[in-house]
Amino acid sequence: MCLSTPTTNEAGNSASCSLGVACNAARTENAADSQLKHRSQVATATHTKESTKLDDSLGFKEENAIYKEHASKQQQQEQQQQQAAAVDYNPQIRWPDLGAQTFLHVGALYGVYLLCYAKFYTFLWVAATILFSGIGITAGAHRLWSHKSYHASLPLRILLCFMFTIAGQRDAYTWALDHRIHHKFSETDADPHNANRGFFFAHVGWLFLTPHPKVIEKRKVIDMSDLEADAVVMFQRKYYIILFALCSIVLPVMVPWYFWQESLWMSFWINFNMRFTWTLNVAFFVNSVAHMYGNKPYDKNITPVEAPIVSLLALGEGWHNYHHVFPWDYKTGEFGNYTLNITTGFIDLCARLGLASGRKSVSPDMVLRRAEKCGDGTRFLSDEYAHKDQVWGFGDCDLPREDIVELVKMQS
Ligand SMILES: [Zn+2]
Ligand SMILES: [Zn+2]
Repeated sequence: MCLSTPTTNEAGNSASCSLGVACNAARTENAADSQLKHRSQVATATHTKESTKLDDSLGFKEENAIYKEHASKQQQQEQQQQQAAAVDYNPQIRWPDLGAQTFLHVGALYGVYLLCYAKFYTFLWVAATILFSGIGITAGAHRLWSHKSYHASLPLRILLCFMFTIAGQRDAYTWALDHRIHHKFSETDADPHNANRGFFFAHVGWLFLTPHPKVIEKRKVIDMSDLEADAVVMFQRKYYIILFALCSIVLPVMVPWYFWQESLWMSFWINFNMRFTWTLNVAFFVNSVAHMYGNKPYDKNITPVEAPIVSLLALGEGWHNYHHVFPWDYKTGEFGNYTLNITTGFIDLCARLGLASGRKSVSPDMVLRRAEKCGDGTRFLSDEYAHKDQVWGFGDCDLPREDIVELVKMQS
């Protein structure tokens, strides 16, 4: 597995690692990250003790010995528990969740049928709410709260929280927790929607099957301190049920009924079931399609792929091979304009308005190095500038000198 170093595209905003594991390089760079701060404090304290106790230079440190012994015992216990749980794991259907998914999907099909008879404004309204709530997922729950790829001001966080709640995809804390685990343990038993368990499981099955014990275990150890310090996220988490009812059901359904006298019955199946299910499946495509069918220009050793169709539907979230390699990049992709990455356009607009800052990105050199080292060789196929080494024919000034010499020889 290749590793790269985070960069920023705005001065003064150093990269940070929120995940709390294997981020030694970032440890000294980001004092704001509480876990890393804690670790650096421990490291500093240890270092001070070491420098004052010169006599104790033979390597033995009682406190370290105790810690190591304790840590190794804990690790052993954890490993034993994991192994036992993995052997016993027999996924069970969670019937209420399966019932909810069935209701949503069957109701969505009925909503599609009713859309043929709906008022034109209802059609516009459902399209607008899909886009609006979709950005709540992509710019909010994903790029901001899961990956910390930029900073959002309080008004923007409130707006994103509102938009995300309309989507109805659980609270942002829970969403980000599972997503961080997905990135850290992708395609392992600890991945909530492990694509190695098949398309259906990665797409929707994971939502109504009991999770693998390793998923439960990792949910307890992923660092979420940044979200725990975010009042907006914690407020949404605390009052999620009522907020969901108001934002995801009442608001989308009542507006067409109140403002242009759409039938409440039609509005419900269209603006709740159909809208909700559409957004849900588009998000599912990122976990299924974008983990299965496509090129791997940045790292062929991982499962995620580049899926332009998913990017089109999911507002820029289909550049998934890139995203898993550089998850801190707020663009979640190397190429593409705003057409295939509306979310990036939204974040850039917010930055212009002073609502967003600290957009983290990746340098072209870093991308190139990674693509050359680990990619499957398809990167240049999707790069409009990548054919810079190509030539249009004889006489092109980019023709390699040695080729010109040889051509001249052949002609003479
Ligand atoms: Zn992600
Ligand atoms: Zn993924």
